[in-house]
Amino acid sequence: MKDSNFLKENNGRLMWHPMTSPKDSIDNPPKIITGSKGVTITDIDGHSVVDGVGGLWNVNLGYSCQPVKDAMAAQLDKLPYYSTFRGTSNDVAIELSYELSEFFEPDGMARAFYTSGGSDSVESALRLARQYHKLRGEAGRTKFLSLKKGYHGTHIGGASVNGNANFRTAYEPLLPGCYHIPAPYTYRNPFNETDPETLAQLCVQALEDEIAFQGAGTIAAMIMEPILGAGGVIPPHKSFAPMVQDICNRHGILLITDEVITAYGRTGAWSGARLWGIQPDMMCTAKAITNGYFPFGALMLGHRVAEVFENNPDAKIGHGYTYSGHPVGAAAALACLKETKRLNVIENAAARGTQLFEGAQALMAKYDIIGDVRGGHGLMTALEMVSDRATKKPIDAATAQIVQDVTYENGAMVRISGPNLILSPPLVMTQDDATIILTAIEAGFAAAT
Ligand code: PLP
Repeated sequence: MKDSNFLKENNGRLMWHPMTSPKDSIDNPPKIITGSKGVTITDIDGHSVVDGVGGLWNVNLGYSCQPVKDAMAAQLDKLPYYSTFRGTSNDVAIELSYELSEFFEPDGMARAFYTSGGSDSVESALRLARQYHKLRGEAGRTKFLSLKKGYHGTHIGGASVNGNANFRTAYEPLLPGCYHIPAPYTYRNPFNETDPETLAQLCVQALEDEIAFQGAGTIAAMIMEPILGAGGVIPPHKSFAPMVQDICNRHGILLITDEVITAYGRTGAWSGARLWGIQPDMMCTAKAITNGYFPFGALMLGHRVAEVFENNPDAKIGHGYTYSGHPVGAAAALACLKETKRLNVIENAAARGTQLFEGAQALMAKYDIIGDVRGGHGLMTALEMVSDRATKKPIDAATAQIVQDVTYENGAMVRISGPNLILSPPLVMTQDDATIILTAIEAGFAAAT
């Protein structure tokens, strides 16, 4: 490996980093992470911190999950790759399909379609939703509905249903026929409504209105995150998702839950669908499916969708990836699922989630820079920062950077997304780890106040 000066010089210069500008990567070089242990990461200068980000919402089991590493190494030795396109398959992907269909059976899922990550899972869902309607003789159902502030990855379809202009504007025109409904975001919404239950009803009414305006027979699917993640951790009132499901069912619109973050225990339930007691038609999963150790995803398909494809001899899936069902990814996913269930991670996710959420609320009582705290469902917490509580003016980027930098110096990596400080640590972290995160972010807020 080259020395640290070489790596630092070429970090922003030769490598374009996602979700930032190449110029910014040169002016403010990203931290170079070189090591890890448990829930801790270490940078190139030897500074170790608790990873409050959990990689990128995906390292649920921490960095030292030996059974997963062993399973991957063994699979690399046995069969490092083979395609699952027409005519071939592999043993591990088949076994994984069995395990996943059992795991997501309470969510009404029956089949798995493998991808290389979250954006692929979303794209696959959108494509198969259109094909489903074509197979049923409703070729006019081509449009998609989604929530403002929702994040659905970066492919053209995913960006089109994305509800945040930051990920859209530079790439327009996007897919036509995508319409966005107000999110049940109590801190800021077009209705100025602060009661979560009333706001859920208003958003659902907006959904009904949009369906009536577009014509139900033109809409293929509604895609939504059970709890909005990258948009700033926005948990809806518990009545919201069941109402959305009911509307979709009544209008023949497929409901796709984008569970790239929420599946596999992060919310303190095994899936976002189960958290809210709904059964979608498809579930997009990725991230924690392999604990971040391998790029992999699974789009889960419900019975209703599976039957239409399986009962039609002409229903060829003209879609898929070289790495669909990759044996090393499948081996990692099988081992992750086993560990996830053995450790019953939802219990710790719920307990530590409450600790972080309550700790963040206590900080809000002390620091005016925190305008809103959201979470309360497992290990997804956001602290929205403002420069003025009365006007809710979002904090400027430089101050947010101070919060992040000082937090890091004090022992925790956190993610800043717009005005939000987001916490999505590994689900296996201890009470002491959570205390370290809270103490470190307090130092960050104190420095920025
Ligand atoms: N959908 C959701 C809800 C996500 O949070 C993400 C990534 O954060 C994606 C899709 C895209 O996943 P990936 O970055 O693996 O392509």
